[in-house]
Amino acid sequence: MLEAGGRRNPRRNHVLGRAYAHPPVLAPQYAAAVRIDLHTHSRASDGTQTPGDLVRAGAAAGLDVLAITDHDTAAGWPEAETAAPEAGVELVRGMEISTRHDGRAVHLLAYLPDPTYPPLVEELTKILDGRSSRLPAMLERLREVGVDIHADDVHRVAGGTAATGRPHVADALVDLGVVRDRTEAFARYLNPGRPAHAQRYAASLETMIRVVGEAGGVSVIAHPWGRHGGQERPDESTIAALAATGLAGIEVDHQDHDAGARDRLRAIARNLGLVVTGSSDHHGTGKVDHELGVNTTAPDEYHRLLELAAASSRRSGRPTPAVGS
Ligand code: AMP
Ligand code: ZN
Ligand code: FE
Ligand code: FE
Repeated sequence: MLEAGGRRNPRRNHVLGRAYAHPPVLAPQYAAAVRIDLHTHSRASDGTQTPGDLVRAGAAAGLDVLAITDHDTAAGWPEAETAAPEAGVELVRGMEISTRHDGRAVHLLAYLPDPTYPPLVEELTKILDGRSSRLPAMLERLREVGVDIHADDVHRVAGGTAATGRPHVADALVDLGVVRDRTEAFARYLNPGRPAHAQRYAASLETMIRVVGEAGGVSVIAHPWGRHGGQERPDESTIAALAATGLAGIEVDHQDHDAGARDRLRAIARNLGLVVTGSSDHHGTGKVDHELGVNTTAPDEYHRLLELAAASSRRSGRPTPAVGS
């Protein structure tokens, strides 16, 4: 029952779809058993696990497919690629890009873009530089409200991350005993409207959807109705306009969405013909209630996404990074 180019997972005895031009037709018992988590973070951004540990934790959690989607960087891919075959996990190379739309912060999941495509590299560099360069301002504001914190305190907890941001400032505040956890750090100091918040560069959402497509990848809007600090949520007509720009899917099953939001987003995806994904948005111990596999993506939706990525790669002439191990 292996399709050409398909792959049998040595650890789990079922077929996973490397040959996404001809995705394997999964028997119902497999479809129910295949567990796919398409949104996770490692220490390459603000997760607390190394990329290798993240992949191994995915296997231990019973995942068959795991996407590594660090904020604005592919820096974790090589280590995850090394760990995936040994762990018996199908790895999807991705990233979560910080964009802005109508003045709102919107996270865009990009799957399988060529990470060397120059316009993509250029945008990611601007975002990462914007994150690091606002750090002094944030620390200055913290000192103004009486918290004695310095860049060294942040770099000590951030390790070698490519994307030093608010989560690392939060970790430093925990380390200094100012707050209990990241949640308290955001609530007291780091969220928009709190004393240490500072704006940073973000790419335009439409531009980024286009750039991801030109890079041979596909775009999924991350947790569109999640925590937005009172911001307006993108409605169906907004999402329809994004679909016309090339958006491929909506992350529907996410911890920030309650049952009602999931139902409505699923209906919007169905109306617009968009792929429905579900994922944990795991950050190691950096975010509670986001355990690996807490939400998953249906295998047929996953295969549609892979087919769209293959089509995008053919159209752009940009290579699709391997799926698998
Ligand atoms: P930055 O890109 O530096 O502004 O940081 C934003 C990141 O912080 C988000 O992508 C989340 O991963 C994380 N984050 C935002 N709010 C919280 C929170 N309340 N608790 C933990 N992490 C958070
Ligand atoms: Zn994050
Ligand atoms: Fe996000
Ligand atoms: Fe995320």
